[in-house]
Amino acid sequence: MPGFEIINKAENKEVNSIFKDGNGVLFRQGFENIRKNSYKVKTFEEKFRKKFKSKYSLAVTSGTSALRVALACKNIGHGDEVITQSFTFVATVEAIVESGAKPICTEIDDTLNMCPKDLEKKINKKTKAVIVVHMLGTGANLSEIIKICKKYNLILIEDTAWGIGAKYKNKFLGNVGDIGTYSFDFAKSLTTGEGGMLVFQNKKNFLAAKAWHDHGHENNPNYPRWEDTRSSSGFNFRMSELQGAVGIAQLKKFNNLFNVQKKNREKIITKIKFIKSIKIRKKPIKTTEAPESLIFSFKNKKLAKNFRINLLKRGYSTKILPEAISWHFAGKWKHIKELELKKNNYFNKSKNILNRSVSIPIFFKMKKNFPEIVLKSIEDTL
Ligand SMILES: *Cc1c(COP(=O)(O)O)cnc(C)c1O
Repeated sequence: MPGFEIINKAENKEVNSIFKDGNGVLFRQGFENIRKNSYKVKTFEEKFRKKFKSKYSLAVTSGTSALRVALACKNIGHGDEVITQSFTFVATVEAIVESGAKPICTEIDDTLNMCPKDLEKKINKKTKAVIVVHMLGTGANLSEIIKICKKYNLILIEDTAWGIGAKYKNKFLGNVGDIGTYSFDFAKSLTTGEGGMLVFQNKKNFLAAKAWHDHGHENNPNYPRWEDTRSSSGFNFRMSELQGAVGIAQLKKFNNLFNVQKKNREKIITKIKFIKSIKIRKKPIKTTEAPESLIFSFKNKKLAKNFRINLLKRGYSTKILPEAISWHFAGKWKHIKELELKKNNYFNKSKNILNRSVSIPIFFKMKKNFPEIVLKSIEDTL
């Protein structure tokens, strides 16, 4: 589970250094004569880019704003359609709605991510981009989705809020499509309290995003900021130095966090995989997983619900599935009128899979007997 488990003196020290060594400058740029060369957001971006082998990186205020900026830098808006998947956090669809484009969701398949066949069915002349989500740590079926995006000339954005550190072939998720977005909210595996990051393959997209997230500022070196040139309209999604400092400290711990979680996840799998009547989530070929959670499905909805009750009785909870489905499944989002949910289109295929599925949180500080507790809770259920 998340970065909040590992917050300690290192984050504290990095934040304090803004005041100790950087004269308390909290703005990501400028103020050169005061800040004594202390640049936390810039450093965080650089270190992130190096770690995940991205070409360009831009820190922002949240994972949601990262998605919004991704659409803005490609000029996606009114009259356009953007396709994402029915199983995601509501933020993915909200970012599309905020851009002015129309959100379209696909069904999921047994990877619990975007169904490539349904994606191809939903493409039309208005479709401009696809936001694929690596939901809860397992990569989407990228080899198929890339082919489809190429065939129809669509921009591919990867919502990597849960996929950080996982790979497709030899690339870290987020670096496979045109743009990748990440979230550092308090429930994610790397956290800055609130925060997000974008990575880009292409300099033009990066520069457009960098300007748009800062009111269109080009940060032209020939002018002071208040006389700066403007490349576009924009908004304010700038990350603050306080968040940047926390990000630097968290990033240093990431490898250890990832490896420990991976081992913990394996321990649970080893314990339960012999049970024939549960099915562990399918992983697409050529992808590795981020050990964010462990998802498996029962034969029916009732068993999934009972499993959660049995886990709660032992003092533990599931994570998102089944309890938080209303925030993570488009079939429930009647409040988003732009989705145009109709009676015959509540994503029945996705609903059938999700209703039977449960998700186990993977903790960094996992209790030794947790795999046994998961096993016992399954046995009680069946
Ligand atoms: C967390 C999350 C987001 C949004 O990130 P915030 O930083 O909370 O705004 C977007 N997409 C998915 C899939 C998420 O889980």
